[in-house]
Parts: sequence; C-alpha cells; structure tokens
Amino acid sequence: MAELKEKGINPGLAVVIVGDDPASRVYVNNKKKACEEIGIYSEEYALPAETTQEQLLDLIKTLSDSKQINGILVQLPLPKHLDEKAVIAAIPPEKDVDAFHPVNVGKIMIGDFDFLPCTPAGVMELIAEAGIDPTGKECVVIGRSNIVGKPQAMLLLHKNATVTICHSKTVDLKSVCRRADILVAAVGKAKFVTADMIKPGAVVIDVGMNRDENGKLCGDVDFENVKEVAGAITPVPGGVGPMTIAMLMKNAVKAALL
Ligand code: NAP
Repeated sequence: MAELKEKGINPGLAVVIVGDDPASRVYVNNKKKACEEIGIYSEEYALPAETTQEQLLDLIKTLSDSKQINGILVQLPLPKHLDEKAVIAAIPPEKDVDAFHPVNVGKIMIGDFDFLPCTPAGVMELIAEAGIDPTGKECVVIGRSNIVGKPQAMLLLHKNATVTICHSKTVDLKSVCRRADILVAAVGKAKFVTADMIKPGAVVIDVGMNRDENGKLCGDVDFENVKEVAGAITPVPGGVGPMTIAMLMKNAVKAALL
C-alpha cells in the first residue's frame, strides 16, 4: 500500500448499507476494519430502511462521480421495496468491486475480467494456496446463486475442472456429491453436507454462513463428521469468510489502478 501511495494512488472504497439487518452490519464492519488495517480510505453510508430507490440511486451517482472513490459496494440483500437489479446496474462497472454488474458478469463468463466476485475468488485462492490444481478434477458446486454458485462454477471451469452445479431440484444429490474431488457448498443451510456425501480424500470448501440451533455461526458442512472423510476442509468461521474480505481489498486496489 505504501508503494501505491508513493505513486499518488490512494484506493478509496464506499460501502453502502440500507436498513439494520444484523448480519449485513457485521459484514460491513468487517470490511471497514479491513480497510483501516491495510490503509484503504473508506466511506460508509448507513441509510435507513425506508430509503427510497431515488435516494439510493442519487447516492450511487454521487459516488460514481467522486474522484476519491474508486470502488462502490452496496451491501445485499436490500430491503424488499428496493430494486436490487437497478441498483447494481447503476454502479459503473469500473467501480463495481463486488463484480455483480452485468458487464462484469459477462466478462467473467468469457474469461476476460477486471474484477472477480469476492467469495468465489476467495475459494479459488484457498484452492491455489493449498497447492491443488483443479485441472481435470470433478468439481461439484452446491448452489446456483448469481453471487456464489454460478461464478464459482465458472472460475473452476476456467481452471480446467469438470464442473457440476447442483441446486434444490437436483436428483440424488448425494451420489453427485460423492463424485467430487472438490466440493464447494453454497447452500445456506446449517450442516447440510454430511459425511456420507463425501468421496474419501475430497477437498471440501464451505461457503455457508448460518446460525445453528444455539445461534452459533456455522457453515453448510457438518464439519466434525466430514473432516474424518475429507482430505482437506475449510472451517466456519475462519475459512472462506476472511478470504472474501481479502478479495474485496484486492478489488479495491485494482479499481484504483484501472
Ligand atoms: P442463495 O441465493 O440462497 O442460494 C442457495 C442455493 O442453494 C440455491 O441455488 C438453492 O437452489 C440451493 N439449495 C437450497 N436448498 C438445496 C437443497 N436441498 N439441495 C441442493 N441445493 C439447494 O444463497 P447464496 O447467496 O448463494 O449463499 C449461500 C450461503 O453462502 C449462505 O449461507 C450465505 O450466507 C453464504 N455466503 C457466504 C459468503 C462468505 O463471505 N463466506 C458470501 C456470500 C454468501 P435453487 O436455486 O434451486 O433454489
């Protein structure tokens, strides 16, 4: 960061949160903290739940025109009365550090991108750091959301994996998962992935962030039992979550360099 600042490059990130969803609040605080830690200038806009579409779009326009702000992140989900698609489309693609804008989504599809979506990129980084090459491997992604499942599958495909995407209509999920050399769970259901769904020695990556029956943070994977079968496994908390933040910081720096 010091090197960039010497060159007069000062990344600036604006984080916008609408309403008082406690989970979103935690994510935004973590993002703010990470910016402080690495020296990225950040601005936070905490708007009331009753904010109108027009007010939100006005703020995005101001941030889009700001020289000090290179990256704009609107924390999702938004309250129901707001049009999420229109809000994402209003962020200029070159400031879209979440990579949710249709232009950036399209660029990811063709493998020629400026930004990668933070959570799937964090998963790829974990795989690479562990020295695992997805080439030719059977990879199964459970979940097909636009923010995790679909881009995750695409990133694995770019790394030459053979990819299967599963969802709520998948028939015999267990046998599909048992084929996986690398299994990525992005379902949003506590302890959904059980040991009998795992091929012995498989790499299991848990994207889920759920609360268990005691209100404790937990993933989509039944960690205690699955770890006995898996070759490698990521915990929750302390796995994909911090990587997502790290990738956001990377995108904020990249946005300043564009
Ligand atoms: P989402 O939009 O709710 O998508 C969940 C996906 O799981 C859907 O595609 C759904 O299928 C599928 N699914 C639901 N029940 C299923 C079943 N019984 N069998 C197979 N598939 C099933 O959730 P998301 O936004 O992708 O997030 C997933 C999880 O990741 C959540 O826990 C979220 O909190 C967490 N997350 C974590 C981070 C992080 O930084 N660590 C970031 C983002 C999200 P259908 O499409 O058929 O409904």
